[in-house]
Amino acid sequence: FLLPVGAFIAAFIVGIVVWLSRKRLEPRAELALAVQNREFVVHYQPIVALATGICVGAEALVRWRRPDGTLVRPDLFIPLAEETGLIMPITDQVIDAVIADLGSTLVADRTLHIAVNLSAADISSGRFLDVVARKLAPTGIRPEQLWLEATERGFIDIEAARVNLARARQAGHSVAIDDFGTGYSSLQYLEGLPMDALKIDKSFIDTVGKDTATSSVTLHIIDMARELGLFTVAEGIETAEQAEYLKARGVDFGQGWLFAKPLPPTEFAAYHERSRRIHGPAPEV
Ligand code: C2E
Ligand code: MG
Ligand code: MG
Ligand code: MG
Repeated sequence: FLLPVGAFIAAFIVGIVVWLSRKRLEPRAELALAVQNREFVVHYQPIVALATGICVGAEALVRWRRPDGTLVRPDLFIPLAEETGLIMPITDQVIDAVIADLGSTLVADRTLHIAVNLSAADISSGRFLDVVARKLAPTGIRPEQLWLEATERGFIDIEAARVNLARARQAGHSVAIDDFGTGYSSLQYLEGLPMDALKIDKSFIDTVGKDTATSSVTLHIIDMARELGLFTVAEGIETAEQAEYLKARGVDFGQGWLFAKPLPPTEFAAYHERSRRIHGPAPEV
Protein backbone atom coordinates (compact mmCIF):
# COMPACT_ATOMS: atom_id res chain seq x y z
CA PHE A 1 0.00 0.00 0.00
CA LEU A 2 2.78 2.46 0.95
CA LEU A 3 4.76 1.84 -2.25
CA PRO A 4 2.26 3.35 -4.73
CA VAL A 5 1.70 6.32 -2.40
CA GLY A 6 5.47 6.93 -2.26
CA ALA A 7 5.69 6.67 -6.05
CA PHE A 8 2.80 9.07 -6.40
CA ILE A 9 4.43 11.61 -4.07
CA ALA A 10 7.76 11.24 -5.89
CA ALA A 11 6.09 11.75 -9.26
CA PHE A 12 4.25 14.77 -7.88
CA ILE A 13 7.52 16.33 -6.61
CA VAL A 14 9.27 15.65 -9.92
CA GLY A 15 6.31 17.23 -11.68
CA ILE A 16 6.54 20.38 -9.57
CA VAL A 17 10.30 20.65 -10.13
CA VAL A 18 9.92 20.26 -13.90
CA TRP A 19 7.09 22.79 -13.92
CA LEU A 20 9.13 25.30 -11.91
CA SER A 21 12.24 24.93 -14.09
CA ARG A 22 10.14 25.29 -17.27
CA LYS A 23 8.64 28.42 -15.77
CA ARG A 24 12.15 29.73 -15.07
CA LEU A 25 13.45 28.94 -18.54
CA GLU A 26 10.43 30.18 -20.37
CA PRO A 27 11.04 33.98 -20.32
CA ARG A 28 14.53 33.55 -21.77
CA ALA A 29 13.33 31.37 -24.61
CA GLU A 30 10.42 33.70 -25.20
CA LEU A 31 12.68 36.74 -25.38
CA ALA A 32 15.07 34.97 -27.73
CA LEU A 33 12.12 34.17 -29.98
CA ALA A 34 10.96 37.80 -29.82
CA VAL A 35 14.41 38.91 -30.99
CA GLN A 36 14.30 36.37 -33.82
CA ASN A 37 10.81 37.54 -34.84
CA ARG A 38 11.72 41.22 -34.46
CA GLU A 39 8.86 41.93 -32.07
CA PHE A 40 10.31 45.24 -30.85
CA VAL A 41 8.84 48.64 -31.60
CA VAL A 42 10.08 52.06 -30.59
CA HIS A 43 8.18 54.97 -29.12
CA TYR A 44 9.59 58.48 -29.19
CA GLN A 45 9.38 60.91 -26.29
CA PRO A 46 9.90 64.53 -27.36
CA ILE A 47 12.83 66.47 -25.90
CA VAL A 48 12.26 70.24 -25.85
CA ALA A 49 14.51 73.24 -25.35
CA LEU A 50 13.19 74.68 -22.06
CA ALA A 51 13.94 78.29 -23.02
CA THR A 52 11.88 78.22 -26.23
CA GLY A 53 9.65 75.15 -26.11
CA ILE A 54 11.09 73.98 -29.44
CA CYS A 55 11.15 70.20 -29.97
CA VAL A 56 14.82 69.38 -30.62
CA GLY A 57 14.39 65.64 -30.84
CA ALA A 58 13.24 62.57 -28.98
CA GLU A 59 14.42 59.66 -26.94
CA ALA A 60 13.88 56.26 -28.56
CA LEU A 61 12.22 53.98 -25.97
CA VAL A 62 11.83 50.34 -26.87
CA ARG A 63 8.68 48.29 -26.29
CA TRP A 64 8.12 44.60 -26.85
CA ARG A 65 4.97 44.05 -28.88
CA ARG A 66 3.91 40.48 -28.19
CA PRO A 67 2.05 38.48 -30.83
CA ASP A 68 -1.22 39.09 -28.92
CA GLY A 69 -0.68 42.84 -29.41
CA THR A 70 0.19 43.76 -25.81
CA LEU A 71 3.06 46.20 -25.32
CA VAL A 72 5.60 45.23 -22.66
CA ARG A 73 7.49 48.06 -20.94
CA PRO A 74 11.30 47.92 -21.13
CA ASP A 75 11.75 47.65 -17.35
CA LEU A 76 10.17 44.19 -17.59
CA PHE A 77 12.53 42.74 -20.22
CA ILE A 78 15.69 44.88 -20.51
CA PRO A 79 17.25 43.37 -17.34
CA LEU A 80 16.75 39.85 -18.73
CA ALA A 81 18.02 41.00 -22.13
CA GLU A 82 21.15 42.37 -20.45
CA GLU A 83 21.68 39.16 -18.49
CA THR A 84 21.39 36.97 -21.58
CA GLY A 85 23.26 39.12 -24.11
CA LEU A 86 20.04 39.54 -26.12
CA ILE A 87 20.35 43.28 -25.51
CA MET A 88 22.83 43.67 -28.39
CA PRO A 89 20.47 42.45 -31.13
CA ILE A 90 17.73 44.52 -29.45
CA THR A 91 19.92 47.66 -29.67
CA ASP A 92 20.40 46.87 -33.37
CA GLN A 93 16.65 46.57 -33.86
CA VAL A 94 16.10 49.91 -32.10
CA ILE A 95 18.56 51.58 -34.49
CA ASP A 96 16.82 49.90 -37.46
CA ALA A 97 13.47 51.16 -36.13
CA VAL A 98 14.74 54.74 -35.78
CA ILE A 99 15.91 54.67 -39.40
CA ALA A 100 12.70 53.06 -40.67
CA ASP A 101 10.35 55.23 -38.59
CA LEU A 102 12.02 58.62 -38.87
CA GLY A 103 14.76 58.37 -41.49
CA SER A 104 13.08 60.72 -43.96
CA THR A 105 12.07 63.16 -41.19
CA LEU A 106 15.67 63.22 -39.93
CA VAL A 107 17.00 63.86 -43.43
CA ALA A 108 14.42 66.63 -44.01
CA ASP A 109 15.24 68.33 -40.69
CA ARG A 110 18.94 68.35 -39.92
CA THR A 111 18.25 69.92 -36.52
CA LEU A 112 16.23 66.92 -35.29
CA HIS A 113 18.01 64.46 -32.98
CA ILE A 114 17.16 61.00 -31.68
CA ALA A 115 18.69 59.59 -28.51
CA VAL A 116 19.24 55.83 -28.26
CA ASN A 117 19.88 54.02 -24.96
CA LEU A 118 22.95 51.81 -24.79
CA SER A 119 23.58 48.97 -22.34
CA ALA A 120 26.80 47.91 -20.65
CA ALA A 121 27.43 45.19 -23.24
CA ASP A 122 27.10 47.72 -26.09
CA ILE A 123 29.41 50.19 -24.41
CA SER A 124 32.14 47.85 -23.28
CA SER A 125 32.27 45.94 -26.57
CA GLY A 126 31.97 49.04 -28.74
CA ARG A 127 30.27 46.92 -31.38
CA PHE A 128 27.44 49.46 -31.79
CA LEU A 129 29.92 51.90 -33.34
CA ASP A 130 30.40 49.81 -36.46
CA VAL A 131 26.75 48.81 -36.53
CA VAL A 132 25.58 52.42 -36.36
CA ALA A 133 28.11 53.65 -38.91
CA ARG A 134 27.13 50.91 -41.36
CA LYS A 135 23.39 51.45 -40.87
CA LEU A 136 23.49 55.27 -41.09
CA ALA A 137 25.82 55.51 -44.10
CA PRO A 138 23.24 54.86 -46.86
CA THR A 139 20.48 56.95 -45.20
CA GLY A 140 21.76 60.53 -45.33
CA ILE A 141 21.16 60.89 -41.58
CA ARG A 142 24.13 62.69 -40.06
CA PRO A 143 25.88 60.92 -37.15
CA GLU A 144 25.43 64.23 -35.26
CA GLN A 145 21.69 63.55 -35.27
CA LEU A 146 22.11 60.37 -33.23
CA TRP A 147 22.68 60.90 -29.53
CA LEU A 148 23.74 58.01 -27.35
CA GLU A 149 22.63 57.56 -23.74
CA ALA A 150 24.72 55.59 -21.30
CA THR A 151 23.95 54.96 -17.63
CA GLU A 152 26.51 54.47 -14.93
CA ARG A 153 25.64 50.76 -15.01
CA GLY A 154 27.17 50.84 -18.49
CA PHE A 155 30.59 51.76 -17.11
CA ILE A 156 31.41 48.42 -15.55
CA ASP A 157 34.51 48.35 -17.71
CA ILE A 158 35.42 52.01 -17.30
CA GLU A 159 38.48 51.88 -19.56
CA ALA A 160 36.52 50.33 -22.41
CA ALA A 161 33.75 52.89 -21.85
CA ARG A 162 36.25 55.75 -22.12
CA VAL A 163 37.67 54.39 -25.36
CA ASN A 164 34.33 53.58 -26.99
CA LEU A 165 32.51 56.75 -25.98
CA ALA A 166 35.47 58.75 -27.27
CA ARG A 167 35.19 56.87 -30.57
CA ALA A 168 31.45 57.60 -30.63
CA ARG A 169 32.10 61.33 -30.21
CA GLN A 170 34.80 61.22 -32.84
CA ALA A 171 32.24 59.71 -35.21
CA GLY A 172 30.02 62.74 -34.53
CA HIS A 173 27.54 61.38 -31.98
CA SER A 174 26.79 63.18 -28.74
CA VAL A 175 26.97 61.20 -25.51
CA ALA A 176 24.58 61.79 -22.60
CA ILE A 177 24.97 60.27 -19.16
CA ASP A 178 21.52 58.91 -18.32
CA ASP A 179 19.83 58.75 -14.88
CA PHE A 180 22.55 61.02 -13.59
CA GLY A 181 22.77 61.34 -9.82
CA THR A 182 21.41 57.89 -9.00
CA GLY A 183 24.74 56.03 -9.00
CA TYR A 184 27.27 55.66 -6.25
CA SER A 185 30.37 57.10 -7.85
CA SER A 186 28.97 59.94 -9.91
CA LEU A 187 31.88 62.26 -9.31
CA GLN A 188 34.68 59.73 -9.58
CA TYR A 189 33.91 58.48 -13.03
CA LEU A 190 32.93 61.84 -14.49
CA GLU A 191 36.48 62.97 -14.84
CA GLY A 192 37.91 62.03 -18.17
CA LEU A 193 34.71 60.43 -19.40
CA PRO A 194 33.95 61.57 -22.95
CA MET A 195 30.48 63.13 -22.86
CA ASP A 196 28.31 66.04 -23.91
CA ALA A 197 25.30 66.07 -21.60
CA LEU A 198 23.97 65.00 -18.22
CA LYS A 199 20.40 63.76 -17.94
CA ILE A 200 19.19 64.61 -14.46
CA ASP A 201 17.23 61.64 -13.15
CA LYS A 202 13.48 61.83 -12.69
CA SER A 203 13.82 61.04 -8.97
CA PHE A 204 15.31 64.54 -8.49
CA ILE A 205 12.85 66.25 -10.80
CA ASP A 206 9.90 64.75 -8.89
CA THR A 207 10.44 67.00 -5.86
CA VAL A 208 12.68 69.72 -7.24
CA GLY A 209 11.63 73.16 -5.95
CA LYS A 210 9.69 71.50 -3.12
CA ASP A 211 12.23 69.46 -1.18
CA THR A 212 15.32 71.44 -0.12
CA ALA A 213 17.76 68.50 -0.22
CA THR A 214 16.66 67.44 -3.71
CA SER A 215 16.74 71.01 -4.96
CA SER A 216 20.23 71.52 -3.60
CA VAL A 217 21.57 68.36 -5.26
CA THR A 218 19.90 69.36 -8.54
CA LEU A 219 21.45 72.82 -8.40
CA HIS A 220 24.86 71.24 -7.79
CA ILE A 221 24.43 68.99 -10.81
CA ILE A 222 23.47 72.02 -12.93
CA ASP A 223 26.53 73.97 -11.69
CA MET A 224 28.84 71.07 -12.27
CA ALA A 225 27.52 70.55 -15.79
CA ARG A 226 28.08 74.22 -16.52
CA GLU A 227 31.65 74.07 -15.24
CA LEU A 228 32.34 71.01 -17.34
CA GLY A 229 30.73 72.59 -20.41
CA LEU A 230 27.99 69.97 -20.61
CA PHE A 231 24.36 70.32 -21.64
CA THR A 232 21.71 69.39 -19.08
CA VAL A 233 18.51 67.48 -19.77
CA ALA A 234 15.84 67.07 -17.09
CA GLU A 235 13.83 63.86 -17.39
CA GLY A 236 10.36 63.16 -16.05
CA ILE A 237 9.04 66.73 -15.97
CA GLU A 238 5.34 66.48 -15.13
CA THR A 239 4.36 69.96 -13.98
CA ALA A 240 4.72 73.52 -15.24
CA GLU A 241 6.27 74.45 -11.86
CA GLN A 242 9.09 71.94 -12.36
CA ALA A 243 9.70 73.21 -15.91
CA GLU A 244 9.77 76.85 -14.72
CA TYR A 245 12.14 76.06 -11.85
CA LEU A 246 14.57 74.21 -14.13
CA LYS A 247 14.36 76.74 -16.94
CA ALA A 248 15.07 79.59 -14.50
CA ARG A 249 18.20 77.74 -13.35
CA GLY A 250 19.49 77.28 -16.87
CA VAL A 251 18.67 73.62 -17.60
CA ASP A 252 18.86 73.32 -21.38
CA PHE A 253 16.40 70.59 -22.28
CA GLY A 254 13.40 68.87 -20.76
CA GLN A 255 11.52 65.68 -21.30
CA GLY A 256 8.39 64.44 -19.57
CA TRP A 257 4.65 64.03 -19.54
CA LEU A 258 4.18 67.81 -19.27
CA PHE A 259 5.33 67.98 -22.89
CA ALA A 260 4.39 64.53 -24.17
CA LYS A 261 4.43 60.85 -23.28
CA PRO A 262 6.48 58.48 -25.43
CA LEU A 263 4.62 58.50 -28.76
CA PRO A 264 4.29 55.98 -31.60
CA PRO A 265 6.36 57.07 -34.65
CA THR A 266 3.62 58.79 -36.65
CA GLU A 267 2.37 60.69 -33.59
CA PHE A 268 5.89 61.87 -32.81
CA ALA A 269 6.39 62.98 -36.43
CA ALA A 270 3.15 64.99 -36.13
CA TYR A 271 4.26 66.49 -32.79
CA HIS A 272 7.58 67.52 -34.31
CA GLU A 273 5.89 68.94 -37.41
CA ARG A 274 3.57 71.02 -35.19
CA SER A 275 6.54 72.32 -33.19
CA ARG A 276 8.29 73.26 -36.43
CA ARG A 277 5.23 75.08 -37.73
CA ILE A 278 4.93 77.09 -34.52
CA HIS A 279 8.61 77.78 -33.81
CA GLY A 280 10.55 76.95 -36.97
CA PRO A 281 13.45 74.46 -36.88
CA ALA A 282 15.58 74.16 -33.76
CA PRO A 283 18.95 75.92 -33.80
CA GLU A 284 21.70 73.44 -34.69
CA VAL A 285 23.34 71.79 -31.70
P1 C2E B 1 15.27 56.08 -19.25
O1 C2E B 1 16.27 55.97 -20.35
O2 C2E B 1 15.65 56.88 -18.07
O3 C2E B 1 13.95 56.62 -19.95
C1 C2E B 1 13.04 57.48 -19.33
C2 C2E B 1 11.86 56.73 -18.77
O4 C2E B 1 11.07 57.62 -18.03
C3 C2E B 1 10.94 56.14 -19.85
O5 C2E B 1 10.38 54.95 -19.33
C4 C2E B 1 9.86 57.20 -19.96
O6 C2E B 1 8.64 56.71 -20.47
C5 C2E B 1 9.73 57.60 -18.52
N1 C2E B 1 9.20 58.96 -18.38
C6 C2E B 1 9.53 60.05 -19.12
N2 C2E B 1 8.87 61.14 -18.71
C7 C2E B 1 8.11 60.76 -17.67
C8 C2E B 1 7.20 61.47 -16.79
O7 C2E B 1 6.98 62.66 -16.92
N3 C2E B 1 6.63 60.75 -15.81
C9 C2E B 1 6.85 59.41 -15.64
N4 C2E B 1 6.23 58.78 -14.64
N5 C2E B 1 7.69 58.70 -16.45
C10 C2E B 1 8.31 59.37 -17.44
P2 C2E B 1 10.33 53.63 -20.20
O8 C2E B 1 10.01 53.95 -21.62
O9 C2E B 1 9.43 52.68 -19.47
O10 C2E B 1 11.82 53.12 -20.15
C11 C2E B 1 12.37 52.69 -18.95
C12 C2E B 1 13.86 52.45 -19.07
O11 C2E B 1 14.13 51.34 -19.91
C13 C2E B 1 14.62 53.61 -19.70
O12 C2E B 1 14.86 54.60 -18.74
C14 C2E B 1 15.89 52.92 -20.15
O13 C2E B 1 16.80 52.78 -19.09
C15 C2E B 1 15.37 51.55 -20.54
N6 C2E B 1 15.22 51.50 -22.00
C16 C2E B 1 14.22 51.96 -22.77
N7 C2E B 1 14.47 51.74 -24.07
C17 C2E B 1 15.69 51.14 -24.14
C18 C2E B 1 16.53 50.66 -25.21
O14 C2E B 1 16.21 50.77 -26.41
N8 C2E B 1 17.71 50.09 -24.86
C19 C2E B 1 18.09 49.98 -23.56
N9 C2E B 1 19.29 49.40 -23.30
N10 C2E B 1 17.36 50.41 -22.54
C20 C2E B 1 16.16 50.99 -22.81
MG1 MG C 1 17.47 57.07 -21.48
MG1 MG D 1 16.93 58.53 -18.21
MG1 MG E 1 15.51 57.24 -15.76
